[in-house]
Amino acid sequence: MNNFQKLGLSPSIIEVLDQLGFENPTPVQEKAIPMLLGEDPTDFIGLAQTGTGKTAAFGLPLIDLIDQNSKATQALIMAPTRELGQQTGQQLSNFAQNNKSVNIEVVYGGAAITNQIRALKKPTQIVVATPGRLLDLIKRKAIKLDNVKYVVLDEADEMLNMGFKEDIDEILSHTLENRVTWLFSATMPPEIRRIVKKYMEAPLEVSINAQEKSNKDISHKYVVTKTSNKISALRRFMDIQPDMRGIMFCRTKRETQQIADDLGNLGYGVEALHGDLSQGQRDSVMKRFKTRAMQLLIATDVAARGIDVNDLTHVIHHTLPDQLESYTHRSGRTARAGKKGISLVFINPREDRKIKALEKRINISFEQIEVPALEDLRSSRINNWANLIINTKVDEQSEAILNELHEQFAHLNKEDILKRLITTQLDHLMIQKGESSNLNASEEGSSESKTRSKTGFHRYFINIGAIDGMTKPDVLHFLSDISNVDRKFFGEISLQKNCTFFDLDDKQDQGFSQKFNGIEVKGRELRVNRDDEGNKRSKPSYSRDKVRGKRRQPRSDVNRSRAGRR
Ligand code: AMP
Repeated sequence: MNNFQKLGLSPSIIEVLDQLGFENPTPVQEKAIPMLLGEDPTDFIGLAQTGTGKTAAFGLPLIDLIDQNSKATQALIMAPTRELGQQTGQQLSNFAQNNKSVNIEVVYGGAAITNQIRALKKPTQIVVATPGRLLDLIKRKAIKLDNVKYVVLDEADEMLNMGFKEDIDEILSHTLENRVTWLFSATMPPEIRRIVKKYMEAPLEVSINAQEKSNKDISHKYVVTKTSNKISALRRFMDIQPDMRGIMFCRTKRETQQIADDLGNLGYGVEALHGDLSQGQRDSVMKRFKTRAMQLLIATDVAARGIDVNDLTHVIHHTLPDQLESYTHRSGRTARAGKKGISLVFINPREDRKIKALEKRINISFEQIEVPALEDLRSSRINNWANLIINTKVDEQSEAILNELHEQFAHLNKEDILKRLITTQLDHLMIQKGESSNLNASEEGSSESKTRSKTGFHRYFINIGAIDGMTKPDVLHFLSDISNVDRKFFGEISLQKNCTFFDLDDKQDQGFSQKFNGIEVKGRELRVNRDDEGNKRSKPSYSRDKVRGKRRQPRSDVNRSRAGRR
């Protein structure tokens, strides 16, 4: 027996659930569905986050409650983003596949409104919409809300975070007094309470304890590493777990794109998703992500809202969000529908207290883990390579090729051949020279610099960065021009917002920093120092205010100011 049957759903819905493989209701479905199907329509609050099955919790009753003989719009579902709206629309269409006369339309901003106006001319009993576009459609009289009996506010806290407060107020003012409102939210900030008070009457409330549900399935972990090492550390996690598939959250669009570009250039299957991409670009990124054409989606919080992709093994936080509540939303992208998942946070040594604050605030506990050491990485790569060879299905063409090569290999035994094969793979199996073994930051902290000096490099800091309009090649040219040190002596360059870290061959160490003394960039004194010369590096000498609005041109500007000093 399908366990949804006892919740009061119609046989046609149960049949669909059987086809979809939904056998057991999730906790929010078990509690909400009987309430929403009750004799008297009721206002309802569901405290549940994505991944708990909330779409079916309101979607299944909705399809049963719709009057299929009426062509009027009877249900309105508001969602914060286009992605969430589309996913909700898709799920509802699946649920309604046995009820052909139920029509569902999804409308959202960033796409041609004319097509949506045309689509809404057909009978549409359920409309899923983002608030801004819905308001637009109401104003153009393309949608009539006077028969709407059910309003669903999905991810209500996210809609408020995104500034849809006034839009929601206005939309609700266009609906009937006697409609019911079902509100779903992961958190209950005061603004949501205000909506509840203003628009709902004696709502029934179901709270799916986030800790109970998701934290059981999500393991929360963190690593402590210097900001400049975060990407190297991430690469090690990706290398050591080739099956990893997930989303990494960054804070800014620029950082998101930069990290995706850097990792992409190194051959990793990653792509960026942020608000500067056109809707078409975002759609194709999401399509590739869903079809598993990439390993990691690098995204901003806003762009990744509502993404519903199952089977993500990891959610990675390149930087913790400003609002700790967003952590719940981010990490809820993994461990969906009963699966396990890992939420991995990268923090720098100064952010320790943020982890403690998170633990207290959302009642979870974190485990500190280490960045994989080079040695582990090396043995993992060697193992993977060996397994690849052992498990490769032999192609029939290989026989003929082997015959051709037989003579050439005749003087080599198995060991000789393997050694030669390994040599051809050295770049892949070994670790690049100059890479530090230990990327974990501790109070002693300077393990990296020590290792670098052993391998012939020192790490340096300069107080120019992306905010000055610099790219990595710009920084390299600039450093080389000013210091008269050939570019070949520079190693890895890590461009940050306000500053840049770079490696310099230690034979060029002598007097290197001093070559930058007295040079100014538009009134700001340049500072270059070794990263292991204490904490000077972490505090660029200029204030943000001074450079705001005066994005510096790379190189040409700097050279000019130097020339002026000569
Ligand atoms: P949601 O929280 O609504 O975004 O749902 C998360 C995912 O779980 C979706 O892909 C649903 O299709 C799936 N799902 C929801 N409820 C069930 C259920 N009772 N059994 C199996 N899968 C479910």
